[in-house]
Amino acid sequence: MSQYDVIVVGAGFSGAVMAERFASQQNKKVLVIEQRPHIAGNCYDYTDDSGITVHHYGPHLFHTNKENVWQYLSQFTQWTPYEHKVLGSIDGKLVPIPFNLNTLYQLYPDGQAQEIEALLVKHYGAGGKVPILELRKSKFVALQQLAELVYQKFFVNYTTKQWGCSPEDISPEVTARVPIVVSRDDRYFHDKYQAIPSQGYTQLIGNILKHDNIEVRLNIDATTLLRLNCKTNKVIFEEHEFAGKLVFTGMLDQLFEYTEGELPYRSLQFDFQTIDKKEFQPSTTVNYPNEHAYTRITEFKHILQQQSDKTVIVKEYPQDYDRHDPQKNIPYYPIFNAENQQRIDVYKKRIEGFVNVISAGRLANYKYYNMDDAVENALCLSCQVMKSREGLM
Ligand code: UDP
Repeated sequence: MSQYDVIVVGAGFSGAVMAERFASQQNKKVLVIEQRPHIAGNCYDYTDDSGITVHHYGPHLFHTNKENVWQYLSQFTQWTPYEHKVLGSIDGKLVPIPFNLNTLYQLYPDGQAQEIEALLVKHYGAGGKVPILELRKSKFVALQQLAELVYQKFFVNYTTKQWGCSPEDISPEVTARVPIVVSRDDRYFHDKYQAIPSQGYTQLIGNILKHDNIEVRLNIDATTLLRLNCKTNKVIFEEHEFAGKLVFTGMLDQLFEYTEGELPYRSLQFDFQTIDKKEFQPSTTVNYPNEHAYTRITEFKHILQQQSDKTVIVKEYPQDYDRHDPQKNIPYYPIFNAENQQRIDVYKKRIEGFVNVISAGRLANYKYYNMDDAVENALCLSCQVMKSREGLM
């Protein structure tokens, strides 16, 4: 018998929330195994020498409409209100993204902008949001022309850099994340709750994991301790059968040793720079759809309004994921199309054969989760398992 009731692989949001639920709600002894030298997954942040909080795996801006997620996380952190704003470098001007009525008036002469505004309001409603691929289907010439401009100047080149293909060749949900907004609202997100953990994400996840029933082991590749016996559908932990729950938040293809093929991802390379001046750019993020090999620059000090004589920025260079190349082996974004969906479904079917394994999170579900989706998914899954008969263990 293992000393643990639950083993969680991965100490990001999903793993931490699952661990906390089992530890606090069922008094289970939980072991969390993390391969990186730190907790918090891709939300990992730290304070650098100039006193600025840096997001090591790119900018993470928390926003949610999910009441339960907000209430749950608020037990573990205080929040600093923050509404994310993004500018886009378009034809030498910095204009608001998502494209909204302010953007319209910056790019069009007033008279023409007024006509387009009236059409947008008529067809999509004041305050409406329309994905670019929808707007392109408009039957009205003026809206078609607008859609063409927005598509060409804001979407096609950014998406080609980010995904290696055009907006039509990825799931429409992806570009729909940044719709055209029929209002003067310049914010990137429109959710009810928008805030950053005041002491950072690492601290927040540390607080979630801070429970007497939870042990965290860092720098451990889970495959050195755990494996699946695919003949018996049993989990083997330290060479013994493990009858407790295994929560797996990593990549399913890796867990099954790629026997059903590899799942593709997009990865990123980050170029961090500390610059000897107070401010680099006027907003947290500036997108460069049409210039440079990078997609965007984020200046971190704006997020928590930190004061420093220096500033830290990061440029994001998208690239294909390659598990054999240390420069490209972080799987940031699943690429969901019909073929990859089929492949993940095969892996999910196989994992279902293991009655005591739960797959949770963005990687294991192969979904483009925001942070709040990951937390909601973990809350929901832990609740389901605890209610089920096996959950009683
Ligand atoms: N996008 C774009 N131009 C932009 C911003 C976003 O074409 O200026 C598209 C692009 O395909 C991107 C998607 O919208 O991958 C979603 O953008 P989001 O900012 O949500 O991406 P994330 O922050 O998750 O990388």
